[in-house]
Amino acid sequence: MSQGLVTMSYIVASSLFILSLGGLSNQKTARRGNYYGMIGMAIAIIATIMSDAVTSYSILIVCLLIGGGIGAKAALKVEMTQMPELVALMHSLVGMSAVLVGYANFMDSTSSLEGVEKTIHEIEIFLGILIGAITFSGSVIAFGKLCGRISGKPVLLTGRHWLNLGLLLAVITLGVLFVSAAQTGHGSWPLMLMTLVALVFGVHMVMAIGGADMPVVVSMLNSYSGWAAAATGFMLSNDLLIVTGALVGSSGAILSYIMCRAMNRNFISVIAGGFGSSGGGEAAEIEGDVQTVDVKEMVALLRDAKNIMIIPGYGMAVAQAQHTVNEITKLLNKQNKNVRFAIHPVAGRMPGHMNVLLAEAKVPYDIVYEMDEVNEDFPDVDVSIVIGANDIVNPSALEDPNSPIAGMPVIECWKGHVTIVLKRSMATGYAGIGNSLFVRENTRMLFGDANESLQLVLKDLQSKKYG
Ligand code: NDP
Repeated sequence: MSQGLVTMSYIVASSLFILSLGGLSNQKTARRGNYYGMIGMAIAIIATIMSDAVTSYSILIVCLLIGGGIGAKAALKVEMTQMPELVALMHSLVGMSAVLVGYANFMDSTSSLEGVEKTIHEIEIFLGILIGAITFSGSVIAFGKLCGRISGKPVLLTGRHWLNLGLLLAVITLGVLFVSAAQTGHGSWPLMLMTLVALVFGVHMVMAIGGADMPVVVSMLNSYSGWAAAATGFMLSNDLLIVTGALVGSSGAILSYIMCRAMNRNFISVIAGGFGSSGGGEAAEIEGDVQTVDVKEMVALLRDAKNIMIIPGYGMAVAQAQHTVNEITKLLNKQNKNVRFAIHPVAGRMPGHMNVLLAEAKVPYDIVYEMDEVNEDFPDVDVSIVIGANDIVNPSALEDPNSPIAGMPVIECWKGHVTIVLKRSMATGYAGIGNSLFVRENTRMLFGDANESLQLVLKDLQSKKYG
C-alpha cells in the first residue's frame, strides 16, 4: 500500500475515533459511537498491516492470532463484574508495550538519526519507557486491588512523600545521564535504572491509595495508558498512534477530573497517596438496632408509595439484578407510580458501571438521573430502594469528619420517608467502613441476594391487584 493511502486511512481512522468519543458522550448515541470506534480500529489495523513498515508477515500473523485469540477468549469469558479488573489489566499491557517498544528503539542499530533529531528521539524513548513502566506496575496493582487479591487498605509508608520526591529526582538525574550517554551509543544502565524506579513508583503510588479513592486511580491509569500509547507513536513515527494515544490520554485526564470533583477530592492529593486516610482519628463505630423487612412488607410499602427512587450499587452488578429491576420498574410505572433511578458517579467499580447495566436491561434513559439532579428531591420520596449499594449512601461522608470518605458527596436517601436496603449481610462496602444508614430509624433491611429478593418482590407485585 502506498504511503499516501496509509496516511489517508489514518486520517479517516482518527476522524472515526473522534466521532466515536463524541457518540460515547451520550447514552442515546453510544451504540453508534462504538460502531465508529470499531470501524476506525479495523481501518487502522488493515492500513498498518498493509504499510511498508511491516517486513515480516509470518511473525505478524502469529502475533495477531495469539493476541486476538486471548482477547476474544477474555471477552467471551469475563463476567460483567470482572470488567473493571480486565480494563486495568489491559492498561498494564499498553504500558508494557510502551516499555518494550522503547527498548527495541534504543537497541535499534539501523537508526540514522543524528544531532538534535537523535536527542529528541532519545527523550521520546526515555519518556515512553517512563510512562509505560509507571502505567504497567500501577495497573497491575490496581488489578490486584479491584479483584480483591490485594487489600484495598492504603499502604502508607512513613516519609512516603519524601520517597516520591526522591524517586522523581532520581528519574530526572537518570534522564540527564541517559541523554548524554546515548550520544556515544551508551546509556543502557541509566535506562534500566530509570525503568526500575518507574516500576517502584507505580507500585507505591497505587498501594498508597485507599479503597474509596480507587475510581480516580482507574481513570488516571486510563489516561496514562493513552500517553504511553502516544509516546509509542512518537517512537515508531506513527501519527495514528500519537493521535489515538492523545485522545485516550486527554479524555482519561478529563474523566479523572470529573471523578475527583464527584468525590470532592484534590487530584494531586489523591495521587500523592492516602488522602482522607491519614488525617484525623478512627472512623466512628456504628451503633444501633437494625430493622428488617420481608418481601411482603416491602411490597406493601411500594404499594402505598407514589414517589420511588432506586439507588443501584456494586451489589446489583454482583447479583445481576438489573433485568428484575427493570421488570419491577415497568410494573410500578403501570400503577402510575413515579419511579426514578439515582446514579452516583462512583457507584460500582468503573465509571458508568450502573448506566451500562441499566442500559443492558433496557431501563429508559429518561428515568435515570445523576446524583446531583435528584439529591434535593428526597424529602418528597416515599420509598428509596438501595440495591447492593453501600459507600455511595453512607451518611458518614457528610457527618463524620474522621471517615475515610469524609467530604465525598453521597446520595442522601435517608432524607426520604423510608429506605429499603437490599444486601446479604451487614458487611462493609469497598471503602471498608461501617454505614450508619443501616441503623437509621427510617431504614429497613431486606437481607439476601438482591436478585433473589427482587424476584420474590416481582412475583408478589404481579400477583397483587392495585386500585
Ligand atoms: P460498595 O462496594 O460500597 O458496596 C456494595 C455492597 O453490595 C456491599 O456492601 C455488599 O454487601 C453488597 N452486595 C454484594 N453482592 C451482593 C448481592 N449479590 N446481593 C445484594 N447485595 C450485594 O458499592 P457502591 O456501589 O456503594 O460504592 C462503590 C465503591 O467502589 C466506592 O467506594 C468507590 O469509591 C469504589 N470504586 C469505584 C470505582 C468506579 O470507578 N466506580 C472503581 C474502584 C472503586 P453484602 O456483602 O452484605 O451483600
